[in-house]
Amino acid sequence: MDSFGQNKAALTQSEDGLEPVAEKRWLNLAYSPSRIWQSRISWRITTTVFVTILLIQTVVLIFTVRVYEGEHLERLREIAHTALAPALNNTKEQTISPLTREAAARLFTDTMVEGIAIYGLDYSVIQTYGAPTLLQPKMSADMPASYRSVDNKHYEVLFAPGEIGHPYNIVARMNAADVEPHVIGHIHQTLWILFFMSGLVTSILMLILSLWLLEPMILLRNNLLSAAKNPEAPDIKNLKKDMQDEIGIAIRIANDLIRQNANNLKRLRTQAEDRIHRLAYFDGLTGLPNRTFFLEKLNESIKQKVVEQDGKIAVISVDIDHFKDINDTMGHEIGDKLLEAVGKRIVKSLPEDAVVARASADEFSIMVHLKPEQPDSAVLVERIFTAMVEPVSILQERFQVRVSVGVAHCPDDGLEARQILKNADIAVNRAKEEGRDTVRYYSQDFDRAIQQRFQLLRDLRIAMDQKQLRLHYHPQFDLKTGQVIGVEALLRWWRPDNSKEGGKFIPPVEFIPVAEQSGLIVPIGEYVMREACEANKRWQQRGLPPFRMAVNISGVQFHRGDIVSIVDTVLKETQLDPRWLELEVTESVFMENMQIAIDILGKLHQLGVELAVDDFGTGYSSLSYLRQFPIDRLKIDQSFIRSALTNIDDRMIVRIIITLGHNLGLKVIAEGVETSDHENFLKEEGCDEVQGFKYTKPIPEEELLEFLVAHNRAIAKNSKLSVIE
Ligand code: C2E
Ligand code: MG
Ligand code: MG
Repeated sequence: MDSFGQNKAALTQSEDGLEPVAEKRWLNLAYSPSRIWQSRISWRITTTVFVTILLIQTVVLIFTVRVYEGEHLERLREIAHTALAPALNNTKEQTISPLTREAAARLFTDTMVEGIAIYGLDYSVIQTYGAPTLLQPKMSADMPASYRSVDNKHYEVLFAPGEIGHPYNIVARMNAADVEPHVIGHIHQTLWILFFMSGLVTSILMLILSLWLLEPMILLRNNLLSAAKNPEAPDIKNLKKDMQDEIGIAIRIANDLIRQNANNLKRLRTQAEDRIHRLAYFDGLTGLPNRTFFLEKLNESIKQKVVEQDGKIAVISVDIDHFKDINDTMGHEIGDKLLEAVGKRIVKSLPEDAVVARASADEFSIMVHLKPEQPDSAVLVERIFTAMVEPVSILQERFQVRVSVGVAHCPDDGLEARQILKNADIAVNRAKEEGRDTVRYYSQDFDRAIQQRFQLLRDLRIAMDQKQLRLHYHPQFDLKTGQVIGVEALLRWWRPDNSKEGGKFIPPVEFIPVAEQSGLIVPIGEYVMREACEANKRWQQRGLPPFRMAVNISGVQFHRGDIVSIVDTVLKETQLDPRWLELEVTESVFMENMQIAIDILGKLHQLGVELAVDDFGTGYSSLSYLRQFPIDRLKIDQSFIRSALTNIDDRMIVRIIITLGHNLGLKVIAEGVETSDHENFLKEEGCDEVQGFKYTKPIPEEELLEFLVAHNRAIAKNSKLSVIE
């Protein structure tokens, strides 16, 4: 997975990971002080502080309540003291009370004193007044100096002798009913203060947390979220105030990391985009722009130079002749180097502003803005041809490169980039069809020719269905004995039309290429094979001496159709002995993919059929490869025979092919034998077999049978080939 993918995955994961509701609340959270109430950490800290304060204050409260209560009781004691002191008279007699009943009664009505007991120094009761007292004078040190009733309403205090200035132990019972409400009031007041204080402390704490903790945390979180969502361009915010504490430092580090990551990602993306751009627009091998780039540029240029400036653009297609053969025979490494070299040479030969692209395997597309003062397209094409004159040296080998060139012009041949490029391609195909190593300028006639081809293809399909395809047979003879040793099955198409003849023969050279291009040759080829084998079997069954049936196999059939199983099936179905079937293949079939060809030919040979190389001498084949193919016969192309008598080179070629074939243990047959001179020449050269118009044209079955009968009769009479003249 690339870095973008990883980030995306990480983001999805993090989004999915934020599954708890509480987490989602934080998504895209913007800081605002009120958010503090939603902050769990703040709540935790604040609650802890709040409870701690409460606890401390409760302890303090308990302590202060005691003190407060003590103070109140002490005051009661002072009140008792203040009230009693003036009420006592100066008697020192231990048996008489220093307090008169009237004075006591006054005390009870005017002060909080409710009862008084006066004891002598020996702790005996001298006199009691009012409410009875429970506190006893101190007889020992651990006796209490005061007493408080259970209901807290009364408080008794003891004054030791001399304390009020008299030698008596005096106990005073005081009304303490208002002490408790005072204490409770005190507690309430304290509690209120306590709550207020806690609230205040908590609020201040919250505010501080909000500023020092929550705001930076939310900022950090938002930055991280933003980085996860948009790693390349995260929306990174900095703190309003530069915090120097741990959180501030953490945020700065995190922000730096996020920015660093974003920069890295951006750099990676730019690099990746560059690469994608190069892959999408440039050819990896030659470094030249590719077809896509070329079309885009052409579109732009048409708009600028042609539409706006009324200029002219030449689009030139350059196709390397026989590149496929070179590639297959010499290997892809050589092929690649050759392409590179050709690309460089084309670029060098053209003006700087020319756009040279590698449009497909061995085809270069060129676009040149033709300016009035600069060379026209013919000159540019000439330069391209000149650039190819010097052979290309690769790994100590020198290769002579030839190219076919097609030219189309904008606006003359179209105003749309694809159309013009297509027209340049049509022109280069024309150049290839018409002999290669040449240039063709696009003309609308080419289009017409293409349309005619399409029509031909449509008609050919109909011909298949309506059985307009028939076979004619062209006899082959043993040159020494004159005997028919085989026939070649040749396809004939009688296409009906509205003419007075009712139709016409379409020559195979016209329709076979169309059938090959469309793949229709595969079913047609199978039909031919079946018809031919059936015919041969039929003739044998009629008692004719058996001979070979040669059937032409196209390269397309060979490589695309399952030729081995088709031959096998047809032989089984027709019950023809395989040795009476010969398959003719051209050299180009071997060259397409040598190993596969050897393989298929081997399998065909195993079936027992014979194999012949048709049109031998015209292909690119390197003779040294012939040895590797399991073939039986070389069929010298008729062009050599035709000119053998007039052209010394062709005569030499025929001689060499015959010698070579014999050296390899092969039979050699010559086709295109039209005259006795041809025949004599071939006899002299030791050719084994012949086929040609000298003996007969290819003929339908009925005529062939008549021909064979007549021929055999003549042979029997003269036992000489010349009798068939
Ligand atoms: P080919 O296989 O080389 O066939 C020989 C061609 O040369 C035939 O032309 C034949 O009529 C012609 N020929 C033979 N002797 C002479 C002669 O002395 N003078 C002249 N002027 N011509 C002669 P045809 O029948 O027009 O076939 C042309 C080509 O079409 C064939 O060349 C073959 O390549 C292809 N073809 C014909 N039938 C079939 C077929 O059934 N399947 C395939 N794949 N190709 C076929
Ligand atoms: Mg042939
Ligand atoms: Mg031939």
